[in-house]
Amino acid sequence: MTPSPLPPPVRSVVGPDALSASGLGRASQCPLSAALDADPDAPRLPVHPRALYGRVLHRLVEAAARGQVDDRDGFARGARRAVDALLAELPERTPAPQRVLGALEWRRRRADAVAVARSVAGKAPVRRGASAPARSPDRPEPWTVADGRWTEVVLRSDVLRVTGRADLVERSGDLVRISDLKTGSPTTSDGTVRASVVLQLRAYGLVAAERLPSARIELRVVGTSSFDVSFNEGDRDAALRTIRSVSDQLPPSRHVSAADLARPGAACGSCRHRHRCGPYLASAPSWWRDGEDFPFPLDLWGTVESVRSGGETSDLVLRDPTGRRVRVAGLRAALARDLEPGDALFAFGFDEPTGRRGPSWRPAPLVLRDLDPDTGAAAWSLAVFGPPLPDVPPLPVRSPAH
Ligand code: SF4
Repeated sequence: MTPSPLPPPVRSVVGPDALSASGLGRASQCPLSAALDADPDAPRLPVHPRALYGRVLHRLVEAAARGQVDDRDGFARGARRAVDALLAELPERTPAPQRVLGALEWRRRRADAVAVARSVAGKAPVRRGASAPARSPDRPEPWTVADGRWTEVVLRSDVLRVTGRADLVERSGDLVRISDLKTGSPTTSDGTVRASVVLQLRAYGLVAAERLPSARIELRVVGTSSFDVSFNEGDRDAALRTIRSVSDQLPPSRHVSAADLARPGAACGSCRHRHRCGPYLASAPSWWRDGEDFPFPLDLWGTVESVRSGGETSDLVLRDPTGRRVRVAGLRAALARDLEPGDALFAFGFDEPTGRRGPSWRPAPLVLRDLDPDTGAAAWSLAVFGPPLPDVPPLPVRSPAH
């Protein structure tokens, strides 16, 4: 398969009507990523199957909160059946989680999710025969009913230009508790709740405060361990400042230069727009060569120097833009075949070699692997492109801001 040409870099974006609360953390690091995330038509790099399994486990927890896990022969059995049914709905070519994560790791993650699901089971049951489904806009909102529990509550503020979906909202008179349900760890290595989760919950809190100004609002992260997120005046002000700062850089319906919004740095690791982001493409090669103090994605591009083909895979040596010679082992023919020395190649999304993660990042490895014939593992979300079309203007170069 000849790789398709690298799409042209995005030159400008249109400010979205609303910012996603769950993406505010990344948006505060790179407003360009928020604008591209808000565009459903923006071409994206593939999702890693790990993220798909995470969504499956989260849907289990949501279903449990709605009282929709069949527990006739025990909650754990019913929950595992629900997970199997949700996995069966994933796109056909999604590898089994045991293959990607290993059987033990998958069992551990599923057991954690089942434990969280059990802890919230039936918190906000959907009444049998209720005419309005869980996500229906016709359901009474928490702001109009003094007592109750709701799952998957759409929270939106036109004033703040923020939108999101809170997993669980509980109201008892003037007390409103908003919970974000997590199946994985919501904390960093030092045990504090991740800044992006804190900002997301505080954004929900601000929306709730707009609807119920006199309410006492509590914010919680519920997982295998649960954490309260403070929401005092200082917290509200700080969250407001962050939201306004992002919002001001992305005026609604106005075109803004992509180069002015891009902040190549820590946010790039989880960004699915890297292949179209000129500032990222200009910055990343020096990260590979020199290392960085944030976890950067393992991508690679350059000129093919040698190719050794072996049936369904090939081994390549690429000369990257900094002059490093990097070997790509086991590149699946389904991604690229018939490559020749002199070809340009762009590859996004190699997996981390085991044990490489750490607070301080070394230069990128000189050997990157796609398919490992011994284990059957692969770089599951790898996307490969050929050179951009000839009429694409050269990439903009901008000093990286960390
Ligand atoms: S690749 Fe990095 S700089 Fe570019 S939009 Fe994504 S996060 Fe921003």
